[in-house]
Amino acid sequence: MSRDHVSPPTVTRDSIHTVDDDSFHSGTVCLVTGAGSGIGRAVALAAAGNGLTVAATDVDEAGLAETRERAEELDLDGPIEPVAGDLTVDEDLERVVEEAAGLGQLTYLANVAGMQHIDPIDEFPMETYDRIHDVMLRAPLYLSKLAIPHFREREDGRGCVGNMASVHGHYVTSDKVAYNVSKFGLRGLTQSIAAEGEGEIRAFSVSTGYVKTPLVTGQLEDTAEQRGISVDEVIEDVMLGQSRVKEMMEPIDVGNLFVVGFSDLSRHLNGGDLLYDGGMTLTYE
Ligand code: NAD
Repeated sequence: MSRDHVSPPTVTRDSIHTVDDDSFHSGTVCLVTGAGSGIGRAVALAAAGNGLTVAATDVDEAGLAETRERAEELDLDGPIEPVAGDLTVDEDLERVVEEAAGLGQLTYLANVAGMQHIDPIDEFPMETYDRIHDVMLRAPLYLSKLAIPHFREREDGRGCVGNMASVHGHYVTSDKVAYNVSKFGLRGLTQSIAAEGEGEIRAFSVSTGYVKTPLVTGQLEDTAEQRGISVDEVIEDVMLGQSRVKEMMEPIDVGNLFVVGFSDLSRHLNGGDLLYDGGMTLTYE
């Protein structure tokens, strides 16, 4: 494995898959959280690459500006409109949905933003637990609650929520209780939307193992040093140790999954989870 496997890749136009779907045009709005970095940015670029108008939200305004710049460099069909906001503030969530709905027909919501904190349960700071819960579970629910009435305004009454879960929504590792609980909860939210959506308003989740984002690649050198092993060994033995596919996913791979999940190709995907983990959770030794 060469060293260039270690830096987060930039999304290219060729890496964005396009899907033929009647709703994929600039009159349709896709709201994406966490759009200032990593997977959220890739989802935003993939949606814009499919002609959708993207309401890109994040607390990181500089990150949002970079996402928009990248979309312009790639000359994508749909525009990316930054709508900054903090997912822990209800007034921000209300404003973000209102602004997104003002850009066209709000039809798709991608809940991607997330964070991590590592501590054992008996030492886990409760204010950190609450913050992670607010960003990763409460905000996706509140955004869905606010977006669903807009979905219903469509002539066909259709809309879809895609939630970024994780292998940690299937099994857990120690010292990540807030993350684990949020990801399991996000799958519950996904199924709840499906239960109430009468087949018109769908929901799905996406669960991956490690994806090459700044969050992950930034830890490689430190982990290698701590464990006294090479960066390649950290990738192959630690991060991909249980995966049968010995290659980390790229953010755009996940972006493309959201586009397929939103499209009519996935009209029977409802409440389900797209488990793209290279065999990590379903195989043993
Ligand atoms: P990232 O750190 O690159 O991006 C997360 C984004 O969320 C950041 O831009 C951050 O500003 C934003 N955010 C955090 N708190 C916020 C708040 N209060 N209000 C608004 N925005 C806020 O991380 P990433 O690797 O792209 O991860 C994105 C999602 O994918 C997360 O939900 C994560 O759990 C999930 N995921 C990541 C991996 C991986 O290996 N990278 C694997 C599985 C699942």
